[in-house]
Amino acid sequence: MITELHLEQPAALTALLQELLSKDTYNKFCVDCNRNESTHTSVTYGTFICQDCASIHLAVLGMDKSYVKPIFGEPWDNHQVRMVQLGGNKKLWDFLKQYAGLEQKGVSQKYESAAARFYRKKLNAEATGRPFSEKEPPKNAEEYLDRGVEGAKSVAKSAGEGIVKGVNILGNKIEESGIKDKLKGFFAKKTSQGGTQ
Ligand SMILES: [Zn+2]
Repeated sequence: MITELHLEQPAALTALLQELLSKDTYNKFCVDCNRNESTHTSVTYGTFICQDCASIHLAVLGMDKSYVKPIFGEPWDNHQVRMVQLGGNKKLWDFLKQYAGLEQKGVSQKYESAAARFYRKKLNAEATGRPFSEKEPPKNAEEYLDRGVEGAKSVAKSAGEGIVKGVNILGNKIEESGIKDKLKGFFAKKTSQGGTQ
């Protein structure tokens, strides 16, 4: 006869998870809707979410993009515990906030962004102790353009001095033409939404 294997959550783990929720209001409430109390975790992002948003993760992202599991009543492995200990809701929130209000966007837009992709790879590297040298995606138009010129410069360096000069002239032209300022204004408008800018 086959007996059904029932794995329980060890008391020490329950206590640890309870502590992560009670000592940090960010974790206590869902990082997606900020309204309901957390009942689930997205291991992929090391975050705590509510039942409703957990269903959205499953439907929109699927388990390979967001590994969702209930906080209580199930065993966790060491990697999963490290992900929420090193991660947490505030860390993701603060990171995405730098990307034109991405922290408040819907599940699909938020988690399928380059910023979210970078975040989950970095957190995973931290949790597994692997080195991680990827540069975070540019946060605004200015950074994007700067990286463009920088990136082109580093490629041109190996090709010779003349090309480096050409790239510098191109960089100055972008400055002169005011494209940067225009884009900066556009992003400022988008992020402040009714603010003073
Ligand atoms: Zn929620």
